[in-house]
Amino acid sequence: MVTARLSSGEQILSRLNLLRYDRQIILPQIGVEGQRKLRESKVLIIGAGGLGSVVAYWLACSGIGYIGIIDPDTVQLSNLQRQILHNEEHIGMPKVISAMITLRKINSEIEILPYPDEIYKKNALDYIKSYDVVVACPDNFKTRKILNDACFKMSKPLVIGAVSEFEGQVFDIIPPYGPCYNCIFEEAEDEKTSRGILAPVAGVIGSIQAVEAIKILIGFGELLHGRMIIYNALNGVFRDVKFSKNPSCRICK
Ligand SMILES: [Zn+2]
Repeated sequence: MVTARLSSGEQILSRLNLLRYDRQIILPQIGVEGQRKLRESKVLIIGAGGLGSVVAYWLACSGIGYIGIIDPDTVQLSNLQRQILHNEEHIGMPKVISAMITLRKINSEIEILPYPDEIYKKNALDYIKSYDVVVACPDNFKTRKILNDACFKMSKPLVIGAVSEFEGQVFDIIPPYGPCYNCIFEEAEDEKTSRGILAPVAGVIGSIQAVEAIKILIGFGELLHGRMIIYNALNGVFRDVKFSKNPSCRICK
């Protein structure tokens, strides 16, 4: 019995929490100490859409103590195809409030901090400064670049995910060390038109983002630093692609 073996941890985690996170605590890489770290951790998720929904679900289930979510939009019918935090009753509601209601039903012992706002250069540092890890789930290059820049200024790890049509990619940015987002995507421009997306592809990539955030917070495993996982749903292949720092990058060292 995990709860008996870990009785010394009861001062840190309640008996109920030992039960709730039993399957996680039993992992030697996590244990009571790792679970306590998660309980004290603050993760900021940018975007409560397809990726952000999945990241928020897993992090709430996993017992992250403080989850901040930023998104300026309201829930639309067309969101429900892939944005699993929301439901038909929440149409018209700010996405961050819809997210909070859903996540509280899953885990009432953690704090959900909703910010109905958009990330700009000007407010990014203010939002990021009080968090331990930032998880980027926007649908555009511009916001990812702002987050990359801000995370380097504040020395905060950043987990980036992106999806389009049948493909998705995920990797970690670990300031002050490169490579960073700017090393690869400095020239990338956003398209005017939206592309399609096969809903579960967001589920795959968002789930990997949540895994990476937990690895960073506790400090185990090999991070996706200097390499990205690219998942192609059409041919059912995961690729692990290495990339290195651009020597002339103005963001990372
Ligand atoms: Zn760089």
